[in-house]
Amino acid sequence: MGTPLDTREAQAEEVLDRLYEEYPDTTISLNYSNRLELLIAVMLSAQCTDERVNKVTAELFEKYDDAEDYANAEQEALAEDINSITYYNNKAKYIRSACSDIIEKHDGEVPDTMSELTDLAGVGRKTANVVLQHGHDIVEGIVVDTHVQRLSRRLGLTEEESPKRIETDLMPVVPEMDWQQLTHLFISHGRAVCSARNPDCDVCVLEDICPSSKLEHQVDLASGEAW
Ligand code: SF4
Repeated sequence: MGTPLDTREAQAEEVLDRLYEEYPDTTISLNYSNRLELLIAVMLSAQCTDERVNKVTAELFEKYDDAEDYANAEQEALAEDINSITYYNNKAKYIRSACSDIIEKHDGEVPDTMSELTDLAGVGRKTANVVLQHGHDIVEGIVVDTHVQRLSRRLGLTEEESPKRIETDLMPVVPEMDWQQLTHLFISHGRAVCSARNPDCDVCVLEDICPSSKLEHQVDLASGEAW
């Protein structure tokens, strides 16, 4: 079938209802025990799997306790401690700089506003949204990672391409109470079924309402190219 509902609002509601059923307990998969650890873990996770980040932070968080530990670390030493992570040199620089700002401007505490967070080195809107949602219980937007980007396009919820524009496009269409869980639901479905290269449309619970279903359609709306 692969026929989406008439409006984007209705499509979003139906998609979310079904994914809540499929993945009732889904949540963030990064390990952390305080706001600073959350911030560091999310900064490390850019272009890197959560699984790898969790392996690295298991030791990193034993060694570094607070913002001062990171800010005072030698660049080479911190880079060495995270060297199995993508872009570890840049990430070490960003973490040291962000932690210096946290000490100088925020009394050593991770700030709780979008503008203060995105003023920190290496912290974009996506990272800030995750820290606000899971560190401060503040939901200001929708975290658009690679899975949310791909699935929202495939499912006909947006035609935008950049994460920032996708977020702005989805916010009026998705009820605010679902903003946080949408990300985790899409990540779970993206990992389990709707992978980038080879989605399992034949076992997908969204197949009958998906305008990219390989069983019915020629084009993957995420890429705009033929399957
Ligand atoms: S697995 Fe296939 S049917 Fe399911 S959401 Fe992805 S593209 Fe659509």
